[in-house]
Parts: sequence; C-alpha cells; structure tokens
Amino acid sequence: MMHRRSFIRKSSLGVTAGLLFPHLLSGCKKDELGNFPDGFRIIVVGAGAAGLYAAKMMKDHGAEVVILEASDRIGGRIRKNDDFADFPIDLGAEWVHGNKSLSHRLAQNAGFQIFEDGGEEAYLINGQISPNYSSSVLENIVGILDGDLAYNGPDMSVLHYAQQQGISNSDLGILEYIAGEFGTSANRLSILFTQVDSENWSSGNKDFKFKRSYFDLINETVAASVIDDVLLNSPVTQINYSSEKVIATVASGSTFEADRILITASVAVLKTGAISFIPALPKAKLQAIQSIGMDAGMKILLKFSQNFWNSTSLIGAQNSPVYWHTTYGKNGSDLVLSAFVMGQKAEALSAMGQAAIPHVLSELDLIYNGQATASFVDGLIQDWSQEPYVLGAYSYSSLGIGNQRSILAQSVNGKVHFAGEATAINGHFQTVQGALESGEREFLAMLQSVN
Ligand SMILES: Cc1cc2nc3c(=O)[nH]c(=O)nc-3n(C[C@H](O)[C@H](O)[C@H](O)COP(=O)(O)OP(=O)(O)OC[C@H]3O[C@@H](n4cnc5c(N)ncnc54)[C@H](O)[C@@H]3O)c2cc1C
Repeated sequence: MMHRRSFIRKSSLGVTAGLLFPHLLSGCKKDELGNFPDGFRIIVVGAGAAGLYAAKMMKDHGAEVVILEASDRIGGRIRKNDDFADFPIDLGAEWVHGNKSLSHRLAQNAGFQIFEDGGEEAYLINGQISPNYSSSVLENIVGILDGDLAYNGPDMSVLHYAQQQGISNSDLGILEYIAGEFGTSANRLSILFTQVDSENWSSGNKDFKFKRSYFDLINETVAASVIDDVLLNSPVTQINYSSEKVIATVASGSTFEADRILITASVAVLKTGAISFIPALPKAKLQAIQSIGMDAGMKILLKFSQNFWNSTSLIGAQNSPVYWHTTYGKNGSDLVLSAFVMGQKAEALSAMGQAAIPHVLSELDLIYNGQATASFVDGLIQDWSQEPYVLGAYSYSSLGIGNQRSILAQSVNGKVHFAGEATAINGHFQTVQGALESGEREFLAMLQSVN
C-alpha cells in the first residue's frame, strides 16, 4: 500500500485510541515477563514479519523455536528486488505507515535511514492531469475508512455508499485508488467494518520510505537472530493437535513436535485448506477464515529512459488507479514508475500475464502523448496472487466481516495460535507493524500460559 492514511491527512479529525496492547514489547524487560520452561518447543509456521518477530521474542525468552517456511526465502510479503534498477525496490511492503509505529521504532533504533514521504500527488480527472483535487464525498469516505469519522449506517460497499452520497463519475477513478489502498475494489470493501477495524489505529499519520528497503530492516533487525532456526522449502501440510504435543508435518513427510504452534500463513492460504488440522478447526474459526477478504494485488515496475510524468504519483487512472515515481528519494538514477493495482483490476491484469505491461503502457501513452512506449526500457510484474504461499495482497474488511478478525486471532485448545496481519485487531491490519504486533501478541499469550 502506498499512502493509506495520507490521502487526506489526519489532523483535527482526531485520532487515536491508546494501544490496544500497551504492555507489548519495547518497554518490557525480559525479567518482568519471565521465561519459557526448559525444553519448551514452539513451531512457527511462516517466516514473514509476524513469524520472524514472534520467533525472535520466543527465543529471547528461552523457547526452542523452529520456523517452517514454505517458500525458498524469508520475508513473505516483504521482499526486495536488487537487479531491476540501480537501487533496491520493495516488491511488497514499501512504506512505514506512521511515525508512532513499531516499524518506525525499529528503524530508528537500528539507525536505518527513512525519510518522510512528502511527494506531490497529481490527479487524473476527466482525462486531464490536475495538481489539486477536492471532493467532499471522497473526504468523507476516507475519514470513515481511516476510522476518524463515525459511520452509523448499515453495512454496504464503499461504492454503494459513494453512490448514495452522489459521487460524480469523474471521482470514480480516485475512489478505486482509495479502495485499492485498502486492498480491494470499491464494490467489495465494507464501509462499516473498515471503519470499525480502523478506529484503533495508533501508528500516527506520517508515511516514510526507506533509503534502502523494508526487507533490509526486517532482515537485519528481526530475522538475523532467528535465521538459523528457519527451515526453508518446508510447507506445512498438516497440524495434529489431538494429543498433548502438537505435530506439524511438512510436504516432504518430515514431522516436527512441539508444545505450541503459531500459524502466520496469510488468510488467503488458510482459505485453500492447504494446511489440514486434526482435529478439524472449530466451525467459528473456519467461518472467520472464509469471511475475511483477501484479493489479488500487484505492482508493475516500469523503467523508462525519460521522466515524462513529473509528479511523484498520479491517481485516478483506469488500468492502474495509481502510478508512483519509485525512484523518489532513493540513491539511484534509473527512472522507475510503479503501477499498483488491487482487487478486480488486479485479477484482470493477472489473467493477462506479461501483456499487463503493454496494457498499462497504453494507458500512460494516452495520458502522456505516447511518451511511455517511446521511452520504455524494461518492465517487471510482481503478482502477489500468483505467489503460491501468499495468494493475494493483504486482508481487507469485506461486507459482513463483523468481528471475524478477533475470532481468527483466538487460539485453539490453548496450543494452536494464529498471527499475521489479518489477525490484527488493533487497527493495524494490512501493515507490517500489524503483522509484527500480532506475532508479539501470540508470543505473550504463550508465555503467560506457562507462567
Ligand atoms: C503489494 C503490497 C504492498 C504492501 N505495502 C505495504 C506498505 O507499504 N506498508 C506496510 O506496512 N504494509 C504493506 N503491505 C502489507 C505487508 O506486506 C503485510 O501486512 C505483512 O508483510 C504481512 O506479514 P505476515 O507475516 O502477516 O504474512 P506473510 O508476509 O504473508 O508471511 C507468511 C509466511 O508464511 C509462509 N507460509 C504460507 N503457507 C505456509 C505453509 N503452509 N507452511 C509454511 N509456511 C507457509 C509464506 O511463504 C510467508 O513467508 C503490502 C503488501 C503487498 C502485497
């Protein structure tokens, strides 16, 4: 996501409920929390932000940890590319959302160079580029979706609500951009439950980018201390929690036994049933997994020999609701523009395969008088729906989702725990800090259960 919370900056609208887990991390000293008993074993499924962070804390508190990672790399939806341009590019998470976020704190503590994103947005309105835009309907919607404004109406899609409010046709492209920041299309995103899920947001309202990459931060500050405990290429296919110990089986047939297990696979992966459970998960849990939305999402990187776009981002186009200048603030000279597409539009582009590149180029040609194709150098598609162990972008609050995130976050039989961004019930779903905090939440729950 790009500027989830900055399209309309939070100001007098007021934020912020206190942290839902004020005791979490950071301030806590090791001795205050106690340790796991000798020989206490924990299996962590997934080496993304949630799994790595949880594993680090478990290990710091005396647990024996094994991290079973399905793919051939760590990081999950935090991933970087080092060879497309002369600077590293984040293919997944790119922005630190919030100066009060855990990610921001990790970056500051480690001396990682981040900079506030102060880029200029431009808008495409009726085919014309405009530096300014104002719409009371869109401002109201963003305020609601960010949890800053109350919404007391019935559950309906953001598109439906916008139509009720009399949105004009020229605003629809920008509406899709807003819905895309929330991980889907406007006709699938719940206005009511996005508001409910967002209202505890406490990360602050400034967005930051890395001079290097988000991946480097997580790799160096979190993964480094547990990297020897990660088993790559180890997709968990079955979890048996029918006896005192939990047994995880991976695709090769190897089994791992532990006292607890933490599952951090994305909700889209859980939906497929690729991990079977003995006994079966409770019905409520299965329903939660099916209810939480997670759609296709992709970034298309486009390298050009000339900068024909000028602004830092262009919002409101059709084929990609936003294009942004990826070189902005980086130590590099290659000119890279990224298309960021979610939901139905991403499904359509995904079905095109490599033809998605000329598809977005043709739109840029229309907007910029043919300059895109004329100066095109190279393109790269990162299609998250095609990553077999992610299967989409990030969770969103779908119609009727209710309190399903809380149900997903509950442990089963006190032994099988769930973390990951979709389980973030503190307003930070869809973000890296939400994933990290969810890992910490479950680490604490396990620790408390034995102390
Ligand atoms: C395009 C895009 C842009 C984004 N932009 C931002 C941004 O700017 N800022 C921000 O804060 N967030 C952003 N996000 C969201 C952020 O990346 C995620 O919220 C976060 O990385 C999720 O971490 P996680 O640990 O919950 O899940 P994941 O990163 O999905 O980690 C889960 C891990 O589990 C593994 N796994 C799955 N199934 C199995 C199995 N059966 N056995 C073993 N392992 C398994 C997966 O391979 C994966 O490594 C973006 C995401 C995308 C896709």
